[in-house]
Amino acid sequence: MTTHPSPATTPAGEARAARGSRVLVLNSGSSSVKYQLLDMRDSSRLAVGLVERIGEETSRLKHTPVADGRTRERTGAIPDHDAALKAVAAELARDGFGLDSPELAAIGHRVVHGGKRFTEPTVIDDAVLAEIERLIPVAPLHNPANLTGIRTARALRPDLPQVAVFDTAFHTTMPESAARYAIDVETADAHRIRRYGFHGTSHAYVSRATADLLGRAPEDVNVIVLHLGNGASASAVRGGRCVETSMGLTPLEGLVMGTRSGDMDPAVIFHLMRVGEMSADEIDNLLNKKSGLVGLCGDNDMREIRRRIDEGDERAKLAFDIYIHRLKKYIGAYYAVLGRVDAVAFTAGVGENAAPVREAAVAGLEELGLVVDGELNAVRADRPQLISPEYARVAVAVVPTDEELEIATQTYALVEKSE
Ligand code: ADP
Repeated sequence: MTTHPSPATTPAGEARAARGSRVLVLNSGSSSVKYQLLDMRDSSRLAVGLVERIGEETSRLKHTPVADGRTRERTGAIPDHDAALKAVAAELARDGFGLDSPELAAIGHRVVHGGKRFTEPTVIDDAVLAEIERLIPVAPLHNPANLTGIRTARALRPDLPQVAVFDTAFHTTMPESAARYAIDVETADAHRIRRYGFHGTSHAYVSRATADLLGRAPEDVNVIVLHLGNGASASAVRGGRCVETSMGLTPLEGLVMGTRSGDMDPAVIFHLMRVGEMSADEIDNLLNKKSGLVGLCGDNDMREIRRRIDEGDERAKLAFDIYIHRLKKYIGAYYAVLGRVDAVAFTAGVGENAAPVREAAVAGLEELGLVVDGELNAVRADRPQLISPEYARVAVAVVPTDEELEIATQTYALVEKSE
């Protein structure tokens, strides 16, 4: 009988055993840090948490070890990201998941803007940090916070591989015809103005999971992904590659969102400047924070909007109709871009939960092969499921997104590969 050496006795196995199988995923915002610790042997979650209101007196840390599900909450000033990450490390250590553990293989960071250059997840070194910094002018709200998170995590564990997973990366396959605005080319290039797209980690994950659900390879399937959260974006994915997406230079373009306007005649801005005497910052704030559903009816939560519609509220009804009208336009446009559509997948908070949105978005599109089955659509599932009847030419699906798992998977794969 031949005996095979166990993995741990081979040199590669030793390296693997030494590296461990856990990945910490960090999503650093300007005043918050969301995190999850995953075990990549079975993609399970070990702990999840959130630090909010960093820099204020009333900071709050919420930490849940998945094993017992008991959330621990701590309030009190957490002055900066360094203190936030140290507090997170202390909570993790209490559960036996200290950041100094050899079980921790890597830290995966969500980075919002990777420009044209970052087409894939990337191991972070000084040059990568400098490039993310160079992109601050096109992502002033997000990249500085992401950088702070990365620098803090590197200082805490300088020896550990840290990987940047970019929200824009999945969209870098868009052809120039989709990525360029029809404005003067020299001006556009001088200021790096083009359509980058966001939510890429989610669009990548959901388009692949949709192919899985159909029992087909991603290369063989054309999918329209509708990521409808508080932020919302659509993408057209041909054979696993993104060919068009609705967000642009910033996450403002495209669909009607919770607080963002989405598409609009750009001349509205000059009008508000000249006639409304508003400053650029005021208009920025108006279009990003006070528009979309909240601007139209005062609420950005789809549950509340549906409740108001049920009570006969006209403003809520109009807001819903505008939201659906835009969504439908994008489904039609992306159908035309793709030529053949195998599936339309709904995801994120609204897409996964709001059956009336799914029903209304697809209503009247029978000629395109799109139909939703009322009974299937009413079921709330936490796994990917079809909501179209069997006879439908195009599958309509609800596919829960999992950006943290996707970041962890990409991070771990990269660390394994670079070994
Ligand atoms: P983001 O990550 O962009 O902050 P999410 O994907 O978590 O957002 O989506 C949040 C939104 O999902 C909420 O604002 C709300 O409109 C919607 N939502 C969440 N749960 C439900 C539900 N049960 N029914 C309808 N809409 C829901």
